[in-house]
Amino acid sequence: MLSYRHSFHAGNFADIIKHVVAVEILEHLTKKEKPFEYIDTHSGTGLYNFKSAQARKLEEHAGGIGKLKEEEYPELARYFEVIKSYNEAGKRNLYPGSPLFAKYFLRPQDRAWLFELHPEDFKSLCLNTNRQRKIKVACSDGLKGMEALMPPKSRRGLVLVDPSYEIKTEYDQVFSAIEKAHKKFATGTYALWYPVVDRPTINKLKNKFIRSGIKNIQCFELGVLPDSDERGMTSSGMIVVNPPWGLFDKMSKLLPKLARTLGESDDLIYQCEQLVDE
Ligand code: SAM
Repeated sequence: MLSYRHSFHAGNFADIIKHVVAVEILEHLTKKEKPFEYIDTHSGTGLYNFKSAQARKLEEHAGGIGKLKEEEYPELARYFEVIKSYNEAGKRNLYPGSPLFAKYFLRPQDRAWLFELHPEDFKSLCLNTNRQRKIKVACSDGLKGMEALMPPKSRRGLVLVDPSYEIKTEYDQVFSAIEKAHKKFATGTYALWYPVVDRPTINKLKNKFIRSGIKNIQCFELGVLPDSDERGMTSSGMIVVNPPWGLFDKMSKLLPKLARTLGESDDLIYQCEQLVDE
């Protein structure tokens, strides 16, 4: 299939919740000297240019990162710091994807494993990550790749699962892959991004996690419009297994604020839930 290209969507409202949560987890992992591993099952190209023909076609970033003023969000200082590190001073033409957010936090002792199946996006990803020794990039299926890495050597890390959900069965596949990985690496942090296009599909996905027997699961969601069958994605969220301490508190304060800035309706659309207790 592989018709989805993230370059049309980078920097939109969905990327914000995804990357803000990823930054919080990565920052937490660097608090200890012990190495950690970052696994990105669906990496994309790593870096996006808002001046490219693809980005200009939909201008989705204008309704996302384009609406966020750094001075109004001191609590997102690290998130903005990463974005600024890939841009010329005073400009915001480039937007990092999840692999480059992670790369910013990697220390010499840490490792990253990046999977991207689209051959063109894989080439760009190789260029954008500069083929560093501590970063392994593969043009292969990310869920199988994750399985093969379990448990990672360092026994600490973040697994980001961010598919394009082009096929409906992907919702079941991502849950099964995380459930399987968790059996071998129960202490890892897993962050699964999901779009809200059809609410019953998301309720089903959440229920699978709730009934899985996996402990300590939180869910964060941010929307720009109420649920609708006709508008495509109106909200998106992150299901986080083994979230770092403090994430829930931070997101509880941040999500209503982001919903106010990014929302396109009178209602503030967000959710912050402890799906399964510790
Ligand atoms: N995680 C990226 C970010 O935050 O910047 C965006 C990823 S985008 C939503 C999903 C990517 O997954 C696309 O680039 C697509 O080509 C890739 N993809 C689709 N199926 C895949 C698979 N089975 N394994 C690895 N990558 C896949």
